Amino acid sequence: PTATPQRVVMVTGGTGLVGSAIKAYVESLGPNPNERWIFLDAVDGDLRQMSVTRGLFERHHPTHVIHLAARVGGLFDNMRDKVGFWRDNIMINDTVLQCAHDFHVQKCVSCLSTCVFPDKTTYPIDETMLHNGPPHFSNEGYAYSKRMVEMLNRLYHEQFGDNFTAVIPTNIFGPNDNYYIEGGHVIPGLIHKCYLAKKNHTDFVIWGDGSPLRQFIYSMDMAKLFHWVLYNYSDPSPVILSVDETDEVSIGDVAREVARAMHFEGNIVFDTTKANGQFRKTASNAKLRRLLPDFHFTPLRDAIQASVDWFVANYDRAR
Ligand code: GDP
Repeated sequence: PTATPQRVVMVTGGTGLVGSAIKAYVESLGPNPNERWIFLDAVDGDLRQMSVTRGLFERHHPTHVIHLAARVGGLFDNMRDKVGFWRDNIMINDTVLQCAHDFHVQKCVSCLSTCVFPDKTTYPIDETMLHNGPPHFSNEGYAYSKRMVEMLNRLYHEQFGDNFTAVIPTNIFGPNDNYYIEGGHVIPGLIHKCYLAKKNHTDFVIWGDGSPLRQFIYSMDMAKLFHWVLYNYSDPSPVILSVDETDEVSIGDVAREVARAMHFEGNIVFDTTKANGQFRKTASNAKLRRLLPDFHFTPLRDAIQASVDWFVANYDRAR
């Protein structure tokens, strides 16, 4: 155990939704003496500050970096603080990528999101269309800051030969998500709201009219794909991690799946005074499918059930 492993993988934002799923996946693969994984938490330091980020690279000397740390939030949080979302993410990405370069990291994989794609576009969206028009007004701060990661990855590659890339997942959900209702994403928000509606015998209220369409990816599937990208995908241009286009679902259907998994038998109502956000953002996984034709995604129903079960079992410590 005292020998230096060949690979040291440092995961920023390592205790969040995706980081904890990657941790569980790596643990499921069993011990590997050639590899050490470091999962950083927000309490390990404020990555917006170069001196702090540099200190973490000096301490751990990663050979590989999975860069997940970001200021993230759901539709409603994004609309409230666009400047904050832009500034926090720009600063975090600047320090992490520059340190990955300075410390000669062999591979750095960052995480974008399909919500950073142009709002007015043709569907399905693919990796080549990232900058082809403004993002949806609701998350401009976040979207523009994340688009700059794609640009930086190319520039670091072009100018210095750095092996930096990014993945672009669709809406991710699973255990250890942020289940805070006001500022969180839709599936954890719905799970939390449905839990309370069942407990308090009230209506289960869905925000918006339920018509928007989304592709959801289970965090455990995302973890497997991230691991594959880290070791098998070396191209600075990003790759979309998404279920197939035929697996796109409406928010209304997702709400009904949550109610089913929670055994909620009350009324499901739609609050149309609340925003719908983007109607759809259908992404193409053709590039992923060309590289990994046989990857099996967990069916949405099973993944929602697992998330509901996790939330119910961990209600006291869920964020
Ligand atoms: P988006 O995919 O980037 O828009 O982010 P979200 O995960 O916040 O999903 C937003 C969609 O879900 C919108 O159509 C909302 O109107 C709808 N929605 C319904 N109920 C909720 C809820 O409780 N929380 C959130 N965040 N969205 C909800």
